[in-house]
Amino acid sequence: MQKATNNKRGMLRLVKSSNLVESEQKPMTDSEKYYKQVQQYAEQIRNTRNADEIVRILDIVLSETRGVKFSDEAFVAQEQVKRAEQKIESLKNEVEQLRSLVQTDQMTGAFNRRGLDDIFKREAARADRNAQSLGVVMVDLDDFKRINDCLGHPYGDNVLISLVTVAQETLRPTDVVVRFGGEEFVILLPDVEMEEALTIVQRIQNNLAKSSALPLENQLMPITFSAGVALRAFGENQNSVISRADQALYQAKRMGKNCTIPSVA
Ligand code: GH3
Ligand code: MG
Ligand code: MG
Repeated sequence: MQKATNNKRGMLRLVKSSNLVESEQKPMTDSEKYYKQVQQYAEQIRNTRNADEIVRILDIVLSETRGVKFSDEAFVAQEQVKRAEQKIESLKNEVEQLRSLVQTDQMTGAFNRRGLDDIFKREAARADRNAQSLGVVMVDLDDFKRINDCLGHPYGDNVLISLVTVAQETLRPTDVVVRFGGEEFVILLPDVEMEEALTIVQRIQNNLAKSSALPLENQLMPITFSAGVALRAFGENQNSVISRADQALYQAKRMGKNCTIPSVA
């Protein structure tokens, strides 16, 4: 096991506990307590795979690191503390960046399914807490295979990117666009009623039709989508509400596509 100690120049370093026979009898200094604490936090970080939890622990370490600077006179190596703070800050940023990378669909910039899992949990908890609804829209582009076949795969990619751009421009900042897979998307609309949700989806449809991102001369065929909308019931889980939205989407396809169907709970 290693312990923190001060060398002659007052610099902190880690030494084996066997070298500390004398000091072991003394009460622990603040810096020793600090290092012990940090080791425990490091262990907690190693044992978690949850980015939120890692950031939470790093925040605690950061605040304790700042605390050490003021409470422990033996801990004079201010520069070291400053460097530790900077390292923790940059670690936090890396974790945040990594999290957003693994939760984002690289091509469209929308969240991916992993992102959806996290966001749904957060939004569902918020909705239950505030007794609000949560609208879940399942979107599927119409005849997308034919669009790819006729206009080329890169054009198809461009359509997917445009749909996300148009949706994000049309929606409120609190709404969330997720690429659920292939040419299917899920949109979360916190705190909406069904009529409002249907209007929002129609607005996205209209804006996509006139999107300048898809050059008119290339629009040999209209780009449309079908959608199903479900309002999450209190306590309803992700699979259940998404499956209801998906069934409504299926109805929309059966009714001739390019339309939105509400799910009746
Ligand atoms: P429907 O109206 O019933 O939804 O028919 P569809 O042709 O849209 O549905 P289908 O499931 O038959 O085809 C989906 C197509 O989406 C097939 C697949 O090649 C295409 N696709 C999936 N991911 C991508 C992608 O990242 N880029 C492009 N260009 N195409 C994709
Ligand atoms: Mg599909
Ligand atoms: Mg489709």
